Amino acid sequence: MGKLKKICVFCGSSSGNDDTITAAAIATGNLFVDKDIFLVYGAAKIGVMGTIAQTMLNKHGKVIGIIPQFLKKKEVVHLGLTELITTENMHERKLKMQEISDGFMVLPGGFGTLEELFEIITWLQLGLHTKPIGILNVNGFYDDLLELLETMVKKGFLKMENYDLLLVDTSEEKLLQKMEAFKAPQIPKWLKPERT
Ligand code: AMP
Repeated sequence: MGKLKKICVFCGSSSGNDDTITAAAIATGNLFVDKDIFLVYGAAKIGVMGTIAQTMLNKHGKVIGIIPQFLKKKEVVHLGLTELITTENMHERKLKMQEISDGFMVLPGGFGTLEELFEIITWLQLGLHTKPIGILNVNGFYDDLLELLETMVKKGFLKMENYDLLLVDTSEEKLLQKMEAFKAPQIPKWLKPERT
């Protein structure tokens, strides 16, 4: 087993209409089971979220779901998880996901997925955590987003070294290798954790 024992996956609560995305979610779930990696995720039984969780549970993998109380009421929650953690709100949920996970993997999704990606990468940029973040770029899904990030670098809104914090690959196995090898840069002196 590598050093990443628990990986939090951010991904769609919808399944979308590209079969390669469902296939990638299944492949990622199988990879986690093979490597004895716990999945941490948003606890839904629907969409890409449900696909990766169910794939792992079918093979006796370990799945920890973290869900805010208000979403639990919407009958989307997966009740067959290894562990289900309920939080007061979305903020507490994200903090808990960050605290218990050793790394973060982002599969295709919508607003919720992007919000989670950008909050967790912002926390890394600020030195609030030192954990790897990987984007699984399934069938070019994130090409446009990566192009936008390059534009941000070119126009001076994003430092190249912060852009480089994001790990990207089209293969879940190679992405996991990159995440295992990741070393966070030193926190700049002017941004000690107690100041943020
Ligand atoms: P989206 O990409 O907009 O489908 O949102 C997916 C992300 O937001 C997931 O990683 C979840 O953490 C969270 N999320 C959105 N909708 C739900 C839901 N119905 N149940 C649980 N989590 C959700």
